[in-house]
Amino acid sequence: MTQKLFDDGELFEFEAVVISCEKVKKGYEIVLDKTAFFPEGGGQAGDIGLLSDAKVLDTQERQGVVYHLADKPLEAGAKVTGKIDRDTRLRRMQNHSGEHLIMGFIHKKYGYENVGFHLGASEVTLDLNGVISYDELLECERQANEAVAKDVKITISYPGDDELKTLSYRSKLENMQNIRIVTIEGIDVCACCAPHLSSTGKIGAVKVLAAESYKGGTRVHILCGLDACDEFEKRQSAVKEISRLLSAKPDKVADAVARLLKENGELRQKLSDIAAAQADSIIASLTNDGRGSFAVFTDTLDANTIRRIANEGVKLTDGMFGVFSASQGGYSYIIASSNVPLRAKSKEINASLSGKGGGSDAMIQGSVSADRQTIEDYFRAN
Ligand SMILES: [Zn+2]
Repeated sequence: MTQKLFDDGELFEFEAVVISCEKVKKGYEIVLDKTAFFPEGGGQAGDIGLLSDAKVLDTQERQGVVYHLADKPLEAGAKVTGKIDRDTRLRRMQNHSGEHLIMGFIHKKYGYENVGFHLGASEVTLDLNGVISYDELLECERQANEAVAKDVKITISYPGDDELKTLSYRSKLENMQNIRIVTIEGIDVCACCAPHLSSTGKIGAVKVLAAESYKGGTRVHILCGLDACDEFEKRQSAVKEISRLLSAKPDKVADAVARLLKENGELRQKLSDIAAAQADSIIASLTNDGRGSFAVFTDTLDANTIRRIANEGVKLTDGMFGVFSASQGGYSYIIASSNVPLRAKSKEINASLSGKGGGSDAMIQGSVSADRQTIEDYFRAN
């Protein structure tokens, strides 16, 4: 068993003796007589840092023994200085202690349990076994931040069996030995294996980011402390940029976007009206001398409009009728016919007009890079 020192969550540096060092796939697994490195558990990742000059990439626990995955070997019997990556650990503790804090208020008011917890690099989620609205969460968030301002003590304890029987705490598991209890005085009592800050003031801030229905309950996304600050900055700069682009005050960007979407919708309608009018006039002027194949050329039109023209033009020919709408580097086309099986013919058409595309026997569509003269010659000859 490794002696664990992380009951003091703010112990970032310690001395220890190397018990063993074994080569494994990803590096060296080092066991110490004691450690302040927290091994992955309870939804929180294992600590990283340094053991003398060896980098600790991860920390895991098996049967009470803590294994430090290091990038270089350390000699058994050697005295080493352990240094936990302070920033990473501090952020994790802010998020974890913050999660206990807001959970305390949620549990007290709604009686819900936290049935899933994930403390990732950029997101923290807690899964509640009950339904709670975003507004209700914001009320709990406000209470949590008031408790941050009061700087309430957070303590770790290992109550005896008798005391445990009468103690009311969250995350109760039956038949567990040596249960570790994290208490936020007057707010929350919870069984937990992770390192915590010594008081709520060090959490800095608790922020609920989002909530959604999840497995009949609610998944809540939060961030606390420095991570909450970073997230705020990220969102702040996004809003700033939108605000600059729309020349709107930061708190008025939603109105500006709504206005823009409305204008966009009106413009789309106008464009589609113009296209329809253009199609009407093209259809009205369609002429074909005889019943041979023929083609028309248009400005850039949408696929539906081109199809409408094709459906009218095909009535004037026993051969093929093509609509060629100007597009980058050539034309988009739709070719229709009631007699020529176009699916079989499409290979030849595309080869002759340097194009690609396909479809049914009655209608094919695609694009070509041939010039107008070549296209007209092809239709005249077919
Ligand atoms: Zn916990």
